[in-house]
Amino acid sequence: MNAKVLRLNKAGTPVAWLNWQETATLIVKDLVIWSMGDTVFKIHGGVNKQGIRSSLELPSIIACDGKIEDKTFVPSLTNSLLFARDQQVCMYCGQNFKVSELSRDHVIPTSRGGVDSWTNCVTACRRCNNRKANKTPDEANMELLAVPFVPNRHEYFFLSNHNVLADQMDFLKTRFSRNSTFFH
Ligand SMILES: [Zn+2]
Repeated sequence: MNAKVLRLNKAGTPVAWLNWQETATLIVKDLVIWSMGDTVFKIHGGVNKQGIRSSLELPSIIACDGKIEDKTFVPSLTNSLLFARDQQVCMYCGQNFKVSELSRDHVIPTSRGGVDSWTNCVTACRRCNNRKANKTPDEANMELLAVPFVPNRHEYFFLSNHNVLADQMDFLKTRFSRNSTFFH
């Protein structure tokens, strides 16, 4: 039961990953406007007077009523999202590493006025990070393999769940930006 259900607002914008209990509660309370995707979970309830056992099928994507925010979405920058954005590849040497071997590199070092933002941060292995030290990529003669970008809302929902189901992926990837290199 590790899979999550993607909750959308009525405009079809992703707002949360839900566990099966949260999803079942919304369905039982009749708060789901529409749903799509395959059944992720089937929950068996009690047996009613007619001897019929109730059951509830939970779809992989549900849309609920509620407020729609239209402000620009910028996910907070964490190492786990950053490493996921860069697919655990060091953006200097191009090799794949375990999360424990990775670090956050500031392209323009913070000591030189670089900010701690999505567009100034990349995934780097410790060796490259040490080698680059307090220098810009130019000064260190190290080339960035990809332009760092801010994940949009759909990319964020993909990156924040390690167990995205195929139909959820199909839904999310329709709004991936051209920057993203996931699943290439
Ligand atoms: Zn490296």
